[in-house]
Amino acid sequence: MGKVLIIGAGGVGHVVVHKCAQVPNVFSEILLASRTVSKCDAIKESVIAKDPAAGARISTAQVDADNSAELVSLINEFKPDLVLNVALPYQDLSIMDACLATGVNYLDTANYEPRDEAKFCYKWQWDYQDRFKEKGIMALLGCGFDPGVTNIFCAHAQKQHFDEITYVDIMDCNGGDHGHPFATNFNPEINIREITQKGKYWENGNWLETDPLSVHESFDFPEVGTREMYLMYHEEMESLVKHLKGLKRIRFWMTFGEEYLTHLRVLQNVGMTRIDAVDYEGHQIVPLRFLKAVLPDPGTLGVNYKGKTCIGCLVKGVGKDGKTARYYVYNVCDHAECFKEVGSQAVSYTTGVPAMIGAMMMLTGQWRGEGVFNVEQFDPSPFMEKLNIHGLPWVEKFL
Ligand code: NDP
Repeated sequence: MGKVLIIGAGGVGHVVVHKCAQVPNVFSEILLASRTVSKCDAIKESVIAKDPAAGARISTAQVDADNSAELVSLINEFKPDLVLNVALPYQDLSIMDACLATGVNYLDTANYEPRDEAKFCYKWQWDYQDRFKEKGIMALLGCGFDPGVTNIFCAHAQKQHFDEITYVDIMDCNGGDHGHPFATNFNPEINIREITQKGKYWENGNWLETDPLSVHESFDFPEVGTREMYLMYHEEMESLVKHLKGLKRIRFWMTFGEEYLTHLRVLQNVGMTRIDAVDYEGHQIVPLRFLKAVLPDPGTLGVNYKGKTCIGCLVKGVGKDGKTARYYVYNVCDHAECFKEVGSQAVSYTTGVPAMIGAMMMLTGQWRGEGVFNVEQFDPSPFMEKLNIHGLPWVEKFL
C-alpha cells in the first residue's frame, strides 16, 4: 500500500524496520537509509533471519541526513509516501526541508535540538506549519512513546473519560537491568543532554524551573514495584498544555537508580558531559561525544536485559459524570520479550512500535491533515487499538 523511507539505523530504527516488515499490507516497500550503510544492511539481515520473505521488500542506502540536497535526490529516486525520521533530533529540520522540497509526508519521534545548545522545543518545527499546509503535506511530530503514546493516552482520557483534565503526571519507569554499571537506553548524547538540563513543569499558565533532578518522589509502578522518580522537563508537555482542556498542572517524571545517578554526577563533575569543544593533543573534541564513543551502544543492550518498563499517565479532573476522577493509563513492556521478538531492548521497542503505528495511521489515511501536527490532535482510538495489536498493550483504571 505505501512506501516508507526510514532514516536512522540505530536502536529505534532497528525496531521500526522490524515492525513495518511485520505489516506488509501497509508497508509494501521499505528503504532504510543512514549515515553508515553497513548498519542498515545488518538490520535488514536481522529481519530476514525472522522472516526470509521480508527481504525482498527492504532496501538500504547511505545518506547524510544533515544534507538536504542528498536527501532530496534519495527521495526523488525512491519516491516514498512518507519519510520516517529516527535519526537524531539534529537532523529534524534538514529532513523536513527535504520533505517540503519533494512534497512528501514526514514523521519523527523527538523534537529538533541544535547541536551547540542543549535545548529542545517545538518552535523550530511548528514554524513549518504554513509551508507544510501550502504544500498539502503532513508532518507528525513526536510519535514515539514519550513523546507519543503519553500524548495519545491524554487524548484518550480526554475523549473517553473526562470533561476536563486538570492535573497530569507523566511517569516513565525503567525497572530493567542490563548488567552494565552505566549505560543509556537510547542515544547517550541526546539522553545525557536531556537529563542534565534543569527540570521544568507547567502550573497555572507558567513554566516553573527546578534544579536538575532535585525534585523526586517514590511511586509504586505496576509489575515493577516502588521506584524513585525525578521531575524533568520533557517535550510532550509543550504541546499538551496547548491541547488539553482545563489543565492546571502538568509534570513529567523519570526513574533513575542510585548507581546511575552517581555515575552521572561523577561524569558531570569531571567535565565529560560538556558539549563545547576542548583541545586534546591538537584535536578539537566534544567530551560528551567522546563519552558516547566509549559507552555501550544502546542497540546492543538487549542481549541480557531483564525486567520491565512501565510508562503511563496519572490524570485528575472532572469525569464525564461531573464528579472528580483520578485515572491511570499505562503500558508495561518486558525487555526480554522485546529481545525475543525483534532483538532489541524495551526502550527502543516502546519508541519504534508507536513510530510504526503513526506511519500506519498516515499511510492508511486514518490520520490525515495538511500542516504540522502533534499526535494528540488526532483521534486517539484507532491508535490505541493498534497499540494492543502490535506489542504495546495498555491498562487503564480509576483510582
Ligand atoms: P541511535 O544513536 O542508536 O541511532 C541514531 C541513528 O541515526 C544512527 O544509526 C546514526 O548513524 C544515524 N544518524 C545520525 N546522524 C545522521 C546523519 N547525519 N545522517 C544519517 N544518519 C544519521 O539513536 P536511537 O535509535 O536510540 O534514537 C533515535 C531517535 O529516537 C532519537 O532522535 C531519539 O531522541 C529518539 N527517541 C525517542 C523516544 C520517544 O519515546 N519519543 C525515546 C527514545 C529515543 P550512525 O550509526 O552512523 O552513527
